Amino acid sequence: MIIQLEKDISTSQYKELTSRLTDIQYDINRVTTQFSDYVIAVGKKEFDIRTIGTLNGIEDIHRVSDAYKLVSKKWRVQDTKIDLGDGVHIGTGDFQIMAGPCSIESEEQIEQTVQHLLDNNVRIMRGGVYKPRSSPYSFRGLGIDGLKLWYKKASEAGIKIITEVMMVEQIEQMMPYVDIFQVGARNSQNFNLLDALGGVDKPVLLKRGISGTIDELLQAAEYIFSNGNERIMLCERGIRSYEKAYRNTLDINAIPLLKEKTHLPVIVDPSHGIGVRRHVAPVALAGIMAGADGIIMEAHQTPEKAFSDGQQTLSFGESKSLFYKMRETFKFRENL
Ligand code: PEP
Ligand code: MN
Repeated sequence: MIIQLEKDISTSQYKELTSRLTDIQYDINRVTTQFSDYVIAVGKKEFDIRTIGTLNGIEDIHRVSDAYKLVSKKWRVQDTKIDLGDGVHIGTGDFQIMAGPCSIESEEQIEQTVQHLLDNNVRIMRGGVYKPRSSPYSFRGLGIDGLKLWYKKASEAGIKIITEVMMVEQIEQMMPYVDIFQVGARNSQNFNLLDALGGVDKPVLLKRGISGTIDELLQAAEYIFSNGNERIMLCERGIRSYEKAYRNTLDINAIPLLKEKTHLPVIVDPSHGIGVRRHVAPVALAGIMAGADGIIMEAHQTPEKAFSDGQQTLSFGESKSLFYKMRETFKFRENL
């Protein structure tokens, strides 16, 4: 059960609420986010929720049977719109493109990518400075110095930055230079990291775990929300299946399902989703038709020379053509 509290609920009104809930053996979890105050009450006993909903100091009350509650659409029917400032929004009618290299590599690469995005009216640049790599001998990113350099170039151009954070300890140093924190597939259930990102007033893009279920993804998002951060988007990036013909199995099915289950924006990542450059475009368009609110995709000036994930990275020519097709596909979907 989610009980939304009025902003000015008094101590005695709050006490009355909690004593009513403990009387019926409900556990109480107080959640304070950047936008509102809630009590998540968990218990088994059936009762008429109006007896609590009519108490003073209560704005709204909803029974939510799912294990995840605050991210559930059963509670909040209106889709969440995430405002990044400077006219950049994610969710509810805006289709956002986040594009850029797998890894940030050099000043020259940053400049070329920023120019490519500007030329194509793309407002968010992706790139990793802390890279999770299967081999410890692979390139693992330029770290905080790379991020600072990137931020300087991107912010001068009015481009927003999305980048992966791998550890709780990195959050604070990265904070001034990041517009969206990305939680990678390998950290999708790193509950300490999710807790910590709940304490941050920056949007978070949460990727689905490599073998994560839809329910696990939603519960991971619930960690972030219940720790105080409502600005979350979910990302379908493919799961590991028995199929070896491509890198991952992009679960297109997850997109309409997530859109039904949660009010959070849903982003598709076709680059990691299939992992094969020549098939990224059709899969991206399929993700849009399935209902995605945005895309995160890899693009590089010379993909063959990319430090990581070159095999799934589009050239600027290819990405330009895909940007056009995606925008047309989104318009088509919205007019259906
Ligand atoms: C990435 O975005 O480059 C990345 C490592 O993604 P994922 O966590 O989905 O593998
Ligand atoms: Mn990558």
